[in-house]
Amino acid sequence: MQTPTQYAPCPQCKQSNAKPVTYTWWGGAIGPRMMSHVKCQNCNTQYNGKTGKSNTQSIIIYNLVVFVLAFCVCGGLAAVNVLLQNQ
Ligand SMILES: [Zn+2]
Repeated sequence: MQTPTQYAPCPQCKQSNAKPVTYTWWGGAIGPRMMSHVKCQNCNTQYNGKTGKSNTQSIIIYNLVVFVLAFCVCGGLAAVNVLLQNQ
């Protein structure tokens, strides 16, 4: 018997040998940790290790939040630049 992992079984192949994902293209190093993002060692499916469901929806929401935050920061910097150049 293998020691059971603390993660939910894979939604694709029902194996429970997932490993946590430490870095992703969409969330960097923080996103996957926030969502318990794990990867099945059997079929390479990535999913939420807590719920056992796909993380696609969470990834989209996460990206939207990051996009809005980045947009606000960039917009703020641009506004400061305009203000400084106007003086
Ligand atoms: Zn799997």
